[in-house]
Amino acid sequence: MPQPRFRYHPDPVATGSAVPTVEACVLCGIARGWRYAGPIYGRQVDVLCLYCIASGEAARALTGGVDFPCMFTDATDVPPGVPFAVVEEVTQRTPGFVSWQQPSWLYHCGDGAAFLGAAGYEELRAHPDALEMIRDDLHRLGWPADQAEAMLRRMDRSGEPAAILFRCLHCGVHLASWEMVHADVEASVQVLGPGHETTVGRHAGAVGYRTCPYAGRPRIPA
Ligand SMILES: [Zn+2]
Ligand SMILES: [Zn+2]
Repeated sequence: MPQPRFRYHPDPVATGSAVPTVEACVLCGIARGWRYAGPIYGRQVDVLCLYCIASGEAARALTGGVDFPCMFTDATDVPPGVPFAVVEEVTQRTPGFVSWQQPSWLYHCGDGAAFLGAAGYEELRAHPDALEMIRDDLHRLGWPADQAEAMLRRMDRSGEPAAILFRCLHCGVHLASWEMVHADVEASVQVLGPGHETTVGRHAGAVGYRTCPYAGRPRIPA
């Protein structure tokens, strides 16, 4: 059975946000062959089809309260200038994804970016713009270049640390956020030495670091 198209999440099966099932969706009662496998910030259900997410029925039906729509992605760090309708579609009518930290979407050119999935070093190498974005982050955090390279090379799409890859729907630039688990945070404290714990600790609290795509970054053509 064909699955609905999502502007901001082109292939939920490939990213692991949809998994096969023979069971029927609890909302529409239809066995679609796939169920949503990402986070639900609302009422939890076992089998939710992608059609009910696409139509907005899931966001309506699984709401936790009148003023609190069900969401599949957190609406944090949305850059100014992104229309509310875009944020609504990204958070309420697009399958989210599982990540180590609280997953949030990346935006570019005033629109939501397309989520491509988790990426390791091998996948990132195919997208030097995304790789450079993570390098810049590590540099800003004070990581020495050799340690930053070692961290990048340890990135593994099915483990951690992992990068989360997006592509801008307008200029085509690849964007990446990355996740750092506790072991890496401790490693970075060691690398930076005494006196840097405050900086590292702030990011340790978030268990990860997200790139702000609007942080003065020039647009890189595809
Ligand atoms: Zn359904
Ligand atoms: Zn763009």
